[in-house]
Amino acid sequence: MTDIEGNVKKLLGEIPEFNPQGEKVDLVAAVKMQTPEDINRAICAGVRMIGDNHVQEFKDKYDLIEGSPERHFIGHLQTNKVKYLIGRIDLYHSVDRMNLAEELSKRSAAAGVESNILVQINIGNEESKGGFELDRADDACRAISALPALNMQGLMAMLPFTDDEGVLCRLAAAMRDKYDELKGIYPQFRHLSMGMSGDWKLCVECGSNMIRLGTSIFGQRNYNN
Ligand SMILES: *Cc1c(COP(=O)(O)O)cnc(C)c1O
Repeated sequence: MTDIEGNVKKLLGEIPEFNPQGEKVDLVAAVKMQTPEDINRAICAGVRMIGDNHVQEFKDKYDLIEGSPERHFIGHLQTNKVKYLIGRIDLYHSVDRMNLAEELSKRSAAAGVESNILVQINIGNEESKGGFELDRADDACRAISALPALNMQGLMAMLPFTDDEGVLCRLAAAMRDKYDELKGIYPQFRHLSMGMSGDWKLCVECGSNMIRLGTSIFGQRNYNN
């Protein structure tokens, strides 16, 4: 059995409280495929934010989560599922296309709520990943910022899977530069969500202030379940 409590305590000790820019570093537990019991163990051990990938899983587990953590959505989100999430998600990390932003805006306005979102950037230009290209980020943010009932709070990215630290550092630094540039235009920017179990140290060193960890908290996911 995975020592979830031990993993969380160790991580909370390892993750620096502040990144080199002096911003607090937030830990989001990536809870896809985890049981409510295991998620609650992580929360008990000190996790304050949890991030879901699948709407059905989120709905099934919603009432079983204890300790009132912040609820984030970090996975690819189908437009027709947005209606199940409105008013229940504290931060949407993965706004990766314009029609998703429009649907979130429309549904939030209709429900009389404001939704906090991050704009996802496909920093590695990978076909397998969603998000706006880096050089479309300015246009995307300008268009999204004009939509009602959304509070655009920053950027999110997933680095490519590679061991080449040079490549990873260059991409992470490019994300931070873009974040700083856009923060000059949108002062409400406060989150740069970048870093998973394999690359979070490098990401925080390069200026990420929000990391999303699954494996290093819960152990390897069992995709056979
Ligand atoms: C699963 C997932 C993570 C966490 O991945 P690990 O490598 O297990 O830490 C982070 N972000 C997103 C969007 C994910 O889907």
